Amino acid sequence: MERYDVIIIGAGLSGIGAACQLRRRLPDQRFLILEARHAIGGTWDLFRYPGIRSDSDMHTLSYSFRPWRAAEAIADGPAIRAYIEETAREEGVAEHIRFGHRVTAAGWSSAESGWTLTIEREGAAPVSLACDWLHACTGYYSYDRAHRPAFAGEEAFAGTIVHPQFWPERLDYAGRRIAVIGSGATAVTLVPALARTAAHVTMVQRSPSYVVSRPARDRIADRLRKVLPERAAYAATRWKNVLLGQFFYRLARRRPRAVARRLIAMVRHELGAGYDVATHFTPRYDPWDQRLCLVPDGDLFAALRDGRASVATGTIDRLTRDGLLLLDGTHVEAEIVVTATGLDILLFGGLALSRNGTIIDPARSLQYKGMMLSDVPNFSFAFGYTNASWTLKADLVAAYLCRLRRTMRRRGAVSATPRVRLGSVTEVPFADLSSGYIRRALSSLPRQGHRRPWRLNQNYALDVLALRFGSVAEAVEFGADRSGTRMKR
Ligand SMILES: Cc1cc2nc3c(=O)[nH]c(=O)nc-3n(C[C@H](O)[C@H](O)[C@H](O)COP(=O)(O)OP(=O)(O)OC[C@H]3O[C@@H](n4cnc5c(N)ncnc54)[C@H](O)[C@@H]3O)c2cc1C
Repeated sequence: MERYDVIIIGAGLSGIGAACQLRRRLPDQRFLILEARHAIGGTWDLFRYPGIRSDSDMHTLSYSFRPWRAAEAIADGPAIRAYIEETAREEGVAEHIRFGHRVTAAGWSSAESGWTLTIEREGAAPVSLACDWLHACTGYYSYDRAHRPAFAGEEAFAGTIVHPQFWPERLDYAGRRIAVIGSGATAVTLVPALARTAAHVTMVQRSPSYVVSRPARDRIADRLRKVLPERAAYAATRWKNVLLGQFFYRLARRRPRAVARRLIAMVRHELGAGYDVATHFTPRYDPWDQRLCLVPDGDLFAALRDGRASVATGTIDRLTRDGLLLLDGTHVEAEIVVTATGLDILLFGGLALSRNGTIIDPARSLQYKGMMLSDVPNFSFAFGYTNASWTLKADLVAAYLCRLRRTMRRRGAVSATPRVRLGSVTEVPFADLSSGYIRRALSSLPRQGHRRPWRLNQNYALDVLALRFGSVAEAVEFGADRSGTRMKR
């Protein structure tokens, strides 16, 4: 069986980033990326709905080692996909990807100090590969299923129902009336994009979210680019955005009422005194209990002001022949219904993990530094922040993985396993967001502890200290190479 030093699962933003860091920092490690799909990019290749774009700034969503050069700080899906692809080619990792390889199971053997992966291939027999270290960059949701509640009366509806995750390439919506069900990031992105050519778009939401306008271009970044060398300007912009984001997050957690009032006043300013902001844009929760929805240059508000789009807030009773009916009797006419109802959270891409033949249930493990699991040897994963750009964390994790591999080599160790002392840590849930998709998934996610290194920081600056400078030996048991033949590289 072919054996590698490191196998990375997933060729999305995290997997490509991790491979680049591995190549740069540990060039002698033999690695492979296994990707179920036939493309690089993950999320940014899968999602094709109109208007698809980042809602965090590209200076923090792009890699620390490769500056974001485009003028826009909020980029569309194809631009992000191109950035990931170019990075993979320029850094020489593209040729290490095996496409059409879906990893279904990974079994750890203590005797062999390694993982054996079971891999399904389209139109070919399954194959097995072995590795010393497994790094899961599988994202956090199912690529095959989306969260899609059933609505009464769907069979009566004469139009088309689409989910943004599976947007039909040829869907012609110009001149049509569209209802977008949802109030999250996807809905607020879709509404202005569809409204450019549709007859009318109605955003149908059960309850409102916080929606905040931000400039699509970062003027400070533009200025820094003029006066500093490219890398210095990029680093400065990245830190500026990290610190501003953290400042705002902390302010929102400390003074939720004041921040809520300010956010709602900003919406009122956008939409004018005559608009019913209380009904449509005043959430029932505090800012950052759920993610804020950011709209570049207020594009959603512009569509609402122009009358090309509108919002209906209420519970859907059922779909009718020509639209949908809310419980309060409002009828929303629609020929196309878009169910922007969310993702189906899936940990490690559905991978079945086992150790010496015994199934590992990640929900019974404690997460370690947001990147490993207690009692699971030589296994790491990339899971981004809920309150900042995903890549900030994925980048730190990849660099930490390289440090850890180097330490293992120095110690002559063949395994590294986070170990928690029984009774020494109080368990708390993995994420503190109250969003539906998080609540639905909590029971399948690992737990976190009340203290370091079992606590999730959700804070880039603290993670820089923990992952870049903290000890890699903290609460880790290193396994010795008894045969004396491994970890020579
Ligand atoms: C619509 C949308 C918008 C988003 N916008 C932002 C944003 O603005 N800012 C932000 O920070 N985050 C955002 N996110 C979160 C986003 O997922 C991350 O930004 C980032 O793309 C995650 O990268 P990833 O490589 O970790 O995972 P993904 O992009 O999900 O890539 C995972 C890859 O792993 C592959 N894979 C999964 N399981 C297996 C398996 N078992 N075997 C083989 N291959 C497998 C998949 O096919 C995929 O290619 C958004 C998410 C969505 C859905």
